[in-house]
Amino acid sequence: MLQETPLRSVAAGGPGEGKRPHGARPLFLISDLHLSEDIPRTVAAFEHFIRTTAEEADSVFILGDLFEYWIGDDMLSDPFVARMAALMHTLSERGVALYVMHGNRDFLLGKRFMKAAGAIWLPDPFVITAFGARITLAHGDALCTADHAYIRFRRVARSRFAQMLFLAWPFKWRHALAKRMRSASQESRSRPVSPKYDVTQEGVAALFNETGTTTIVHGHTHRPATHREPGGTRWVLPDWDLDHGERRGGYLRIDADGLRALPLD
Ligand code: MN
Repeated sequence: MLQETPLRSVAAGGPGEGKRPHGARPLFLISDLHLSEDIPRTVAAFEHFIRTTAEEADSVFILGDLFEYWIGDDMLSDPFVARMAALMHTLSERGVALYVMHGNRDFLLGKRFMKAAGAIWLPDPFVITAFGARITLAHGDALCTADHAYIRFRRVARSRFAQMLFLAWPFKWRHALAKRMRSASQESRSRPVSPKYDVTQEGVAALFNETGTTTIVHGHTHRPATHREPGGTRWVLPDWDLDHGERRGGYLRIDADGLRALPLD
């Protein structure tokens, strides 16, 4: 279901709050950090991004898979998770709006988390108007329409009823199931190899069509690129991993000059 709601900040097309001169401040977009305690260098890079890089931004958008897994907002009692939420909360305290979209690994991020992180939840897909241009934001998993088993799982997993049942389980059970699902998952840290786990032409065309936009930004596939598609331009955000081999990561900047993919500083 497509949603298009005015956002809070001026550069993102909303009415703004007038606390800071928003005018030309850029929007920063990131995704697929897969944060966990097991990847300290990636966590450090995220801390630097939030504390320093994001300082000049009007808004920060996280387009899914911020966490390696999320089995309910009771995870906030974990000290690492609480530290990450507190870190993100400093953005709104500094007048930088934070928007968080669900990914396929953290789609159970709920109201308690959003409050703790000072974040506003964004439905997937979501159309923003930034510097006069309409831009579609998505995590990207729903575009991988060749993976029929996953699309079926996604439909069930995103139903309110299934989530209610799962969240009613004891924390230990949820944790055990999440662990089993992660080890069985085809989506490994390195990029998924088979084209089955990439977006499809049909999926992309349908999203251009549904939104009436000519720009899509998404993550999920871990294949950062800028694609010219029949319907417009598709920007794929990089995943972040500074703990395994080659440094991976980066962000997308949107300002009056358009969109630009930038490396981490
Ligand atoms: Mn993903």
